[in-house]
Amino acid sequence: MVKYSIFTIARNALTSHKNWPKQWRSPEPKSSYDVIIIGGGGHGLATAYYLAKEHGMRNIAVLEKGWLGGGNTARNTTIVRSNYLWDESAAIYEKSLQLWEGLAQDINYNVMLSQRGVLNLAHSLGDVREGVRRVNANRLNGVDAEWLDAEGVKDFCPIINISKTARHPVLGATLQRRGGVARHDSVAWGYARAADALGVDIIQNCEVTGIKREGGKVTGVETTRGDIAAKKIGVVAAGHSSVIAEMAGIRLPVTSHPLQALVSEPIKPVIDCVVMSGAVHVYVSQSDKGELVMGAGIDSFNSYAQRGSFHVIEHQLGACLELFPIFSRVRMMRSWGGIVDTCPDASPILSGTSVEGLYFNCGWGTGGFKATPGSGWCFAYTLANDAPHPLNAPFSLSRFESGALIDEHGAAGVAH
Ligand SMILES: Cc1cc2nc3c(=O)[nH]c(=O)nc-3n(C[C@H](O)[C@H](O)[C@H](O)COP(=O)(O)OP(=O)(O)OC[C@H]3O[C@@H](n4cnc5c(N)ncnc54)[C@H](O)[C@@H]3O)c2cc1C
Repeated sequence: MVKYSIFTIARNALTSHKNWPKQWRSPEPKSSYDVIIIGGGGHGLATAYYLAKEHGMRNIAVLEKGWLGGGNTARNTTIVRSNYLWDESAAIYEKSLQLWEGLAQDINYNVMLSQRGVLNLAHSLGDVREGVRRVNANRLNGVDAEWLDAEGVKDFCPIINISKTARHPVLGATLQRRGGVARHDSVAWGYARAADALGVDIIQNCEVTGIKREGGKVTGVETTRGDIAAKKIGVVAAGHSSVIAEMAGIRLPVTSHPLQALVSEPIKPVIDCVVMSGAVHVYVSQSDKGELVMGAGIDSFNSYAQRGSFHVIEHQLGACLELFPIFSRVRMMRSWGGIVDTCPDASPILSGTSVEGLYFNCGWGTGGFKATPGSGWCFAYTLANDAPHPLNAPFSLSRFESGALIDEHGAAGVAH
């Protein structure tokens, strides 16, 4: 693998950048692998990378039905933070944030992590109580967190409207300064390149259509490019997790919903932090290109169509303009949707199943981008050891039988 550095850029500039090697190979699928990962989004690619890097496994394939990152990974609004309420969530999201902080160096790829600070606004007394409680819980868990009153919010984000007569008055906000944004497709490409360099086969345009089993154990997969044998299978298919579970006769407590986002035309820098409002379902940041990046809440119906309904965007923009009247004449450039996999307690599943050798990593819902490194790291451990790491043990499927749910609706209402 060519190491990316200022020197390789300078050397390639001499040949008009025509001699860069491909970032990863496109091999034909082999007849069998030790581990097959289904899903070439950020989480699947991170899992493959950490399996190879941390656990020395090499005979691994990532099977992706479309192209790398074409699912939610490159459709999200890229907000990264770790300020979740409960100990279990704070631990796994904080592990992830720590991995983010060294990721560009680790995989030798610029993932453009920008720790510009994330505000979660409070618009009611209930929001204030919940926000202050979360700040306290975060600090007890070693996660950086501050509470700002309305004036403090205005200081941090001068373009926000804190008028008391606003439809959604700003009463304060939690602030995580280490939170921010990262470049989503770079995360997929960076993990793919690093995993490929360690021998992982990344196979695009290869849809899994069946899970083969014998005696309660997985033996491989059926795909649009033929059958492939495997000792273990890790399913990391986000909104399609329950479709794949059904292939193995398993019913997951996961529902799939559209989640939309949009960008404005590019404008000069006006907002240098991330603002989220769970109550009004809007969140905003500005990309390096100058576009305002905005996300909404989920559409309430189930769908696999990767697009949502117009009234959700209309509602979102109404709330957004009240918070930021300065945006009123900015034009929207494009909108899109992804299909998110939500669990009843708004927490993920990283777990073995009743089928030996079959593992699921899903349920990240509207907020899994920030978890990409930590999720891959924990899932790789689970696959390699056939046992969960302490960080993901609480996120097993058995919690839906025991009742030990991890209710993160407060921190994950629009979850980013
Ligand atoms: C609009 C929007 C905004 C969001 N904003 C944020 C945010 O700001 N911050 C945040 O933390 N999270 C956010 N999220 C959530 C986040 O994007 C996801 O939780 C995360 O990207 C999931 O990553 P993944 O790798 O698990 O899934 P994906 O990237 O969806 O990857 C799953 C892959 O599996 C493939 N696949 C499915 N079925 C099969 C099959 N049968 N065979 C082979 N491959 C298959 C799919 O093609 C897909 O590429 C947002 C999501 C959306 C849609």
